This record gives sequence, structure tokens and C-alpha cells, in this order.
Amino acid sequence: PTPMTGQRVVITAAAQGIGRASALAFAAAGAEVIATDINMDGLSTLDGCRTARLDVLDGAAVAAFFADLGPVDVLFNCAGVVHAGGILEASEADLEFAFDLNVRSMMRTIRAVLPGMVDRGRGAIINMSSVASSIKGVPNRFAYSTTKAAVLGLTKSVAADHVGHGIRCNAICPGTVQSPSLDDRLAATGDAVAARAAFVARQPMGRIADAAEIADLAVYLAGATYTTGQAVCIDGGWTL
Ligand code: NAD
Repeated sequence: PTPMTGQRVVITAAAQGIGRASALAFAAAGAEVIATDINMDGLSTLDGCRTARLDVLDGAAVAAFFADLGPVDVLFNCAGVVHAGGILEASEADLEFAFDLNVRSMMRTIRAVLPGMVDRGRGAIINMSSVASSIKGVPNRFAYSTTKAAVLGLTKSVAADHVGHGIRCNAICPGTVQSPSLDDRLAATGDAVAARAAFVARQPMGRIADAAEIADLAVYLAGATYTTGQAVCIDGGWTL
């Protein structure tokens, strides 16, 4: 992995899934990791990282957290929620909540770290999107895809405005990734075995990603010094 020694990395939603795997991967690469989530029990079992409670829905808490913390070299916005259903199953409140957790959360954290990055003339921001966005139409993901597409617009906007300040902003677009919430979504269908088989079948590589594979991409992007404004797919060939 790219050496991350001396880099301070903040990750949101790091108690489980991709965020957790990323906290471990950045720590293994030598970074000072501050792993945050609202699930303190999950964070408590993370080795090699500092941990802190951070609710990305709470703008005042986000601002106070980063003001206390001081300089941040890498911000990985991993928090997100899946609403299962098409447009006829989604209420405006469902879309609003997805926007709050998937998009506005990133506006809050980025606004908190950017001024310091601009002052220091460097910084890397990584935002969690999905191939279920403007990249690919995926069934039963109306609110999810709408908001994950917005993440790509947000990412390119930040990248364009701050490329001259030495700041890079990229997005990660996974296919289906093993995580606790994936297990919940499969169970919620009523037939987890069949639902898993259907998810596996749509990945040409014939398997679902391991969270550690996505974490490796996050570490790569943190050190990818000539890459900005990109939506990087990591999807087992789903979009090939
Ligand atoms: P997950 O959904 O299993 O875990 C999500 C974490 O977010 C939990 O630890 C939870 O406590 C935390 N969280 C929830 N609300 C929060 C809040 N208000 N503030 C801070 N933390 C909060 O993890 P996952 O499936 O690895 O998903 C992580 C990200 O990756 C999400 O943005 C998701 O949309 C994206 N993603 C996941 C997949 C997949 O198949 N799992 C695919 C593409 C993209």
C-alpha cells in the first residue's frame, strides 16, 4: 500500500463494513487514523486507530469535532444509507433522509476540513458513491442512486474549485460489497439465499467484493497525487 506515515486520516462510518476495513487499511499503511461513527460499540473493537463519536447528520457536532481536531490530511466520507425501493416505494421523506446522510453529510465534513487544507496547500478527500448512481441504473435503488449521483457532482465540483490549492477529491463507486448492512438488506427480502445468489449473478467476477478490497482503493486514492475529480468503479466487472 501507499505509505501513509505522518498522514492524519478521518473516516466517517468506520464502525463496520467498508469504513471499518478502511480504518484498518490506513492504519496498516502507517497513517494516524481517527475512526468515527455513531456506533461506539463497533468502534471500540478497532485496533490501531483513535476513535470518536461523530454523527454526520449533526452539522454543529461536525463543525465542533473538526475545530477541536486540527489539521486533517485525508478525509474519507464513507457514511451512507441504502433505501430499498423504486420511485413508487420512496416517500419524499425517504429521499430527504438519503440526501441528508449521503450528500449533506459530505458538505458538512468537507466545509470543516477544506479551509485548513487550503491554508496548507494540500489534502485528499474521498467520497463514497456507488455504481448505482449516474453510472448505472440499478433496480430498487431510487433514493440511493439519486443521492449517490449527487455525490459524483459534489466530488467533481470540489475537485474543480480546489485543484489549484493542492487538494484532490475523488469518489469510489463499488458494486456490491459484503457488509453487515448488506446482510440486513438480503434478509429483508425474505429469502436471503436467493437474494444473495441474484446479487452474485450480476457481478461478472461471480462474487461480491470484500470490504478490504474497497479499503485498498481508498488508501490508493489518498496517495494518488495525479488523480482528482474521478469516479473510480470497483465493481467486479458490473459496468464493463
Ligand atoms: P454499513 O452500511 O454496514 O455500515 C454503515 C455505518 O454507518 C454503520 O457503522 C453506522 O453506524 C454508520 N452510520 C449510520 N448513520 C450514521 C451517522 N449519522 N453518522 C455517522 N455514522 C453513521 O457499511 P457499508 O455497507 O460498508 O457501506 C458504507 C458505504 O459504502 C455507504 O456509503 C454505502 O452506501 C457505500 N456502498 C456500499 C455498498 C455495499 O454493497 N455494501 C456498495 C456501494 C457503496
